[in-house]
Amino acid sequence: MSALQTEGTSTDKTDKKRSDKLGDKNDLRIKAIENGTVIDHITAGQALNVISILGGGENFTNTVSIVMNAGSSRGDKDVVKIEGRELTEKEVNAISLISPKATVNIIRDFEVIEKRKIQTPDYVCGIVRCINPNCITNSEPIESKFAVAADEKVKSLVLRCVFCESVMTEELIQFIE
Ligand SMILES: [Zn+2]
Repeated sequence: MSALQTEGTSTDKTDKKRSDKLGDKNDLRIKAIENGTVIDHITAGQALNVISILGGGENFTNTVSIVMNAGSSRGDKDVVKIEGRELTEKEVNAISLISPKATVNIIRDFEVIEKRKIQTPDYVCGIVRCINPNCITNSEPIESKFAVAADEKVKSLVLRCVFCESVMTEELIQFIE
């Protein structure tokens, strides 16, 4: 019982006070990197999907560190660190679809030179494949385009295809190209 209680109250006052500081030890609990990117405040459970967006597969040679279910004042989160690489705008937009509260920290010479919150764009182009097999973007060489809206009720983003009006909310990761 007491063990359970301890786990449940990991967001104590000291944690809260310290966690917003740039480069805080508690935030970046894995070894510092010389150059690269730290994606912080990833929605818990989405770290592997973030890696997959970054092309984590055959041609992926960057060193990656993952922390899953790290405690923070905003609740559980995942953290991904990639050495020797900064993200493209397209990658950041794709990440924003599965983890809208993530922050991207650019590291150069062991210093955080830029820290920014991910912004979910109003439209995403060429990132998500339309769920509708009859959509023109699935049969013609046309870049997909979706209007993005937040929906409090489904607690996730709602994407509407501008070509066929199909609406996509869940399992977006399966459709990210
Ligand atoms: Zn469509």
